[in-house]
Amino acid sequence: MTGPLLAYSENPDLSAELLAALREPARKLGGTIATIHIGPMQPADIEAYAAGGADEIYHVDVHGLREAGPAVLAEAIFKVASETDSGLILLPATKTGREVAPRVAQRFQTGYASECVDPELTEDGLTVRRLVLGGAYEARLVLKKRPYILTLRIRRQKPDTPPTSPKIVKVEFEPTAPRLELVEVVKPEAERVELERAEVIVAVGRGFKKKEDIKIAEELAEVTGGELGCSRPISGDLKWLPEDRHIGLSGKRVRPNLYIAVGVSGQVQHLVGMRDSRTIIAINTDPNAPIMKEADYAIVGDLYKVLPALTASLRRLLGKQA
Ligand SMILES: Cc1cc2nc3c(=O)[nH]c(=O)nc-3n(C[C@H](O)[C@H](O)[C@H](O)COP(=O)(O)OP(=O)(O)OC[C@H]3O[C@@H](n4cnc5c(N)ncnc54)[C@H](O)[C@@H]3O)c2cc1C
Repeated sequence: MTGPLLAYSENPDLSAELLAALREPARKLGGTIATIHIGPMQPADIEAYAAGGADEIYHVDVHGLREAGPAVLAEAIFKVASETDSGLILLPATKTGREVAPRVAQRFQTGYASECVDPELTEDGLTVRRLVLGGAYEARLVLKKRPYILTLRIRRQKPDTPPTSPKIVKVEFEPTAPRLELVEVVKPEAERVELERAEVIVAVGRGFKKKEDIKIAEELAEVTGGELGCSRPISGDLKWLPEDRHIGLSGKRVRPNLYIAVGVSGQVQHLVGMRDSRTIIAINTDPNAPIMKEADYAIVGDLYKVLPALTASLRRLLGKQA
């Protein structure tokens, strides 16, 4: 037996996936599944936790905690988890999750694994899978000491879970960990793009000869109602597109319905970020480029000829004006 298996996410909308991943371990360990909510809680937050199937919500209702930084968040999660004797604590592999989870593990003096998928309880402990060595290999790890602490790779799948009426448990908490003081909030100059939510992505790579040529990919993105993405050299080295459009190991992880890779070779560091896309189309002059093996439809050809023709046909089919 164990206490509740706990999920914490700074964004309650992500909690359904965390709670779904806790369900099977909870059945084996014999605990309930619960979320931790830090700071003021709105009815929409409770609805999100209920829709995700939480049995309880541990509510640390202290104003300003969410902005107080990872050390304080970790302290709050540690308090809930230790007082309830939790066997497993799950956070999303977001920036906040990756900052907070190892601090919780450090407080428990236990192990931690980041960016995992498919946690499974076995006789040896908690088995997880995660990509290693730049995404070229997948490692299986076994966490042996409880509480098991992980960050989970979020796939933005809505699990099919019967809703619950979670019990709300108030948690008294006074932080002692060093707090961050929020001095100023500076908005990024450009409007940030949410590639993770895009249904269609047209990704451009070094097959483009100059910055101005990206316009032909923009036109395809416009016709398909998609967003423009890119390989790392396009944003990092050449600065042709902003950093928030870069996809891959060191960029965004995306899984749109349609991913059109144009002049992208498909090195493993790029593939890691897009190979979960539902349908992949690759346009490349090299039939042996690694992206061609990954693609559902591989078009061997010069992007300067293929793209305008493809955009024009789609315009005709969809009845859109140039
Ligand atoms: C630690 C680390 C992290 C990294 N992280 C990332 C990451 O997150 N994302 C990422 O993308 N990369 C990442 N990289 C870089 C990665 O290894 C590759 O260098 C990069 O993905 C290659 O980008 P590319 O496909 O645009 O360019 P290239 O590999 O140069 O490929 C260009 C492709 O365009 C094709 N081509 C050329 N002309 C035409 C034409 N006229 N028509 C059609 N096709 C044409 C070529 O055949 C070729 O396949 C990382 C590297 C390291 C070391």
